[in-house]
Amino acid sequence: MEGAVKFNRGCSLVTVTEVLMYESVLTALLEHARSLHPKEAICLLEGEIDRKQGVVKVTGLVIPPLATYGHGFSVFPLFYLPLGLKVVGTAHSHPSGNPHPSVEDLNNMVGAISVIVAYPYRDLRDVKAYNVNGSEIALRVVRP
Ligand SMILES: [Zn+2]
Repeated sequence: MEGAVKFNRGCSLVTVTEVLMYESVLTALLEHARSLHPKEAICLLEGEIDRKQGVVKVTGLVIPPLATYGHGFSVFPLFYLPLGLKVVGTAHSHPSGNPHPSVEDLNNMVGAISVIVAYPYRDLRDVKAYNVNGSEIALRVVRP
């Protein structure tokens, strides 16, 4: 179903340097990771990209229907996603506690950012954001 979901893939002219995440999204992300531990959680991040400033604002989180959460992997079918999503990236958990993206993570990035939530999922200390180059970028929590 082409066009059902808009993936805001970062183009080579835009380097995302900062992520602003709503506090409610951070809370939901941490809870999603905790609830599935020791399996890997995955979700889509909704929001908008300011291409001039290189800033991504994450305003929502979507738990994909029929996702498979495994030990060391997680996947979801694109077919069942709701219409009209504005996806800026994905977030997934690392139950191992390693906050860095794997090569596989970087090769399979969807959108402009990838967020990793590492065990023990306490708070912002266990959440890291990366751009399409695999560079860690600033992550700030904001209120709507
Ligand atoms: Zn990973």
